[in-house]
Formats: sequence, C-alpha cells, structure tokens
Amino acid sequence: MHVIIIGTGHAGINAASIMRQNSDEIDITMVSEDRFPPYPRPSIYKIILGKSPSQIFRYPENWYDKNNINLLLGHCVIKIRCQKKSIICADKSELKYDKLLIATGSKPFIPPIPGIRDGPLYCLRNIDDALAIREKAERSTTGKATILGGGLLSVELAKTLSDIDIQPTIIDRSPYLLRKQLDPEGGQFLNRLLDKTFDTSFIFNTISEQIIRKNDEEVKIELRDHSGLWTHECDFLCNATGVRNDNTLPRDAGITIGEYAIVVNPFMQTNIPDVYAAGDAVNIDSFPGSKFGIIPTAVDQAKIAAINILGTRVPYTGTLPWTTLKIAGIDLTSIGDIELGPGIEEKGIIRDFQQRIYQKLFFKEGKIQGAILIGSKINVHQIKTLIIHHEKWEVVKNELNLEE
Ligand SMILES: Cc1cc2nc3c(=O)[nH]c(=O)nc-3n(C[C@H](O)[C@H](O)[C@H](O)COP(=O)(O)OP(=O)(O)OC[C@H]3O[C@@H](n4cnc5c(N)ncnc54)[C@H](O)[C@@H]3O)c2cc1C
Repeated sequence: MHVIIIGTGHAGINAASIMRQNSDEIDITMVSEDRFPPYPRPSIYKIILGKSPSQIFRYPENWYDKNNINLLLGHCVIKIRCQKKSIICADKSELKYDKLLIATGSKPFIPPIPGIRDGPLYCLRNIDDALAIREKAERSTTGKATILGGGLLSVELAKTLSDIDIQPTIIDRSPYLLRKQLDPEGGQFLNRLLDKTFDTSFIFNTISEQIIRKNDEEVKIELRDHSGLWTHECDFLCNATGVRNDNTLPRDAGITIGEYAIVVNPFMQTNIPDVYAAGDAVNIDSFPGSKFGIIPTAVDQAKIAAINILGTRVPYTGTLPWTTLKIAGIDLTSIGDIELGPGIEEKGIIRDFQQRIYQKLFFKEGKIQGAILIGSKINVHQIKTLIIHHEKWEVVKNELNLEE
C-alpha cells in the first residue's frame, strides 16, 4: 500500500511516524511545498533570533531514509485526481496513491484593510517567513515594528522582536490580549502585568482603517478609536490576525467543504473513498469541545487518521484544548472551555496582583470544564485531569485545597 501525505506540518509528520511505528510494509511519501524538512512551528521564533533552520528540524535529515519515508520538499500539490487516485504537483509530476491524507494546514488571514497589500507585509507561518522578518529587522531604519492582532502569535512575535532590539507595538480591536485563551478579567490582569515587564506598546480597542506607505520603509496606519482618527507610524508591518483555510485543492477534487474547511467523519475520512484529512485542514465544527488551529488537535487527529489508514477503525472523540506559554517570564495556561455564557459558573478565583497570580475555574452544570492560570504552573496537570474527568466543585475544591 502506498500512502501519500500532503503537508509536513504537525499533522503530516505525526501521521507518518505513527504509521511507520505500526507498519514496516507500507510505502509512505510526504509531499510539501515547504523547502525545509518538518519542524515545530512554535520554534520558528528562534530563527528570528538567529538560529539556523537545521537547528529546529524535528528529526535529523537521515531519519527519513532510516524510516523509509520518501520526503518530497518544495513540491506544491496543485491537483488531486480522485478517480485516478493520484496527485499532481506544480512541476507536472504525478504520484499514485492507495490512500491519501490531506494535512495542508491553514494560511495567514490577511484582513481587508485598504492598502495592506500595497507593500511588504510580514506574516509568520514558516521558516522562510521567519528568515524574511529577521532580514527586515536587521535593516530596519527606525527599529519600530507594528503587529496587527493580539493573539498568541503576536505576543510571541513581539517578545522575539524586542529581544533583538526592535520596538514592537501590538494593535488589536479587542480590549485585551489572547482573547482565545483568556476571559476579559484575565486579559486585563495580564495587560497590567505586562505593562510593568514587557517592552512592547499596546493599542487596544482600536480599528486599523487604512495603511499608507510612502515607500517600503515608511508605513502609516490610520487608526480609529473612541477619540477619533489618528495615525501610528513604523517601518515594518507584521500581520498576525489569525488563519484561514485555502480550500481550492480539496474543493476542486470534489471533497466536501464545511463552513471553513474539509468535512471528515470521526474516522478522519472525507466523502471520497481512501482520502483522509487531519489538522488545521479539517472543519472542527463536527467535534464539539475541540478547537481549531492548535497543535494538540492536529496531533490527535493525525494519530486517528494514521490508525484508520492502517485498517483499524478507531474514532476521533475530540481534543481538550490546552495552551501553555511564558510571556516575559509570566507562565500562562488556558485549558478546556473558558467561554462565559448562560449556566457557566466561575469558581476557585484567585486575584493576587502582588504575587502575580490569577486563577479562574469554569463550571457548567456543576462540572469543571475549563481553567485559566496566570503566574503559576503548579496545579496545571492536576487541573487538566479534573477537567478530563468533568469533576464536580466539591472534588475540585478538596483536590486543590480551595475555599468556597
Ligand atoms: C509561529 C506559530 C506558532 C504557533 N504556536 C502554537 C502553540 O504554541 N501552540 C499551539 O497549539 N499551536 C500553535 N500554532 C498553531 C499550530 O502550529 C497549527 O495549529 C499546526 O501547525 C497545524 O498543523 P497542520 O499539520 O494541520 O498544519 P501546518 O503545520 O500548517 O502544515 C501544513 C503543511 O502543508 C503544506 N502544504 C499546504 N498546502 C500545500 C500544497 N498545496 N502542496 C504541498 N504542501 C502543502 C505546508 O507547506 C505545511 O508543510 C502556531 C503556529 C505558528 C505559525
């Protein structure tokens, strides 16, 4: 059996290694438009800091030969011929498969701001993007960068840029950072902590109305907030406003696309026989509780896709969203569902600005379903287990030694 995997990101490489761990018999080919062998995406900040690409590769380059995995890099797949069971690459080469896994991920979202595409715009998705940012930082005239978006990627990028003496400013339309990981109160708590420690300027509650460029070196951003219209200047503009799926490849092949991405059943199969999908390329709506665009989801789905491709029928039952990061020395963890709404209770709250600790646990129908922890990692694994087991407040309170 010949399995082709399109994409060498977190989903693609995990699927390949699980398949190889479980079978010596199958042929595996991985095809990627990326020119570098697989690497963890969170490591690409290190490239901006000066590391060479090979320092962040997931495996040594001979790992692929040793594991009999054919790695085709720099190959963009432009067509899937489901009838003929083959894929076509941009160089016109055609490869036949018995089973196909689409793990093509997502692409940076470019917000429709007038002028945004009129000059250089630095997005961060792969090593080449990181090399471009590093090169621009080295020849920056004013040393001032602006990052659109206030999510995880923006915060990490801002920290990285400030480490190489670039002054970053984050602009976001929301009132606080990390909206996907924090509730409004946790967001404000983090803002206050960062104001004291992080060499980054924040512009919140502000809409970018227009980008005006005098030349490649001078960027003016027209901003609107409650006080009216004003201008912010920098010499390079980064965009980290989220990701979107480019569904052209699967759609043209007759694969069903949902609201955002490829629709799969719990066995990670698409509507086309022998064609599977995993990771950011998959529409997450069919799996309540799971979150799109994070590594744990891509890894879990890749594992399930690999096992099913090998012939054992195991369903994907979802992924507990889990993000941990350290910003400017502050530990931050967000686990499970932290959305506020009807029937959601907040308990176990700690707000201690002196100790730099914030904790909030979220309960639905009396059972723990999510948690935010800022400033401490001590209870993270315990809380994760409590969430997995949907424990009630009494159990959580006793386990974590909390007060009513
Ligand atoms: C800088 C950065 C930091 C991140 N940090 C975190 C983090 O800390 N925690 C977290 O949970 N998530 C993080 N994420 C998100 C996480 O990386 C993604 O959710 C994850 O990479 C999804 O894996 P994937 O394999 O589905 O897609 P990807 O990793 O995007 O891989 C897609 C692959 O498909 C290839 N490809 C696409 N189209 C084609 C084509 N037509 N032909 C050939 N190849 C193609 C691409 O080149 C790539 O190899 C981060 C993302 C970035 C960019």
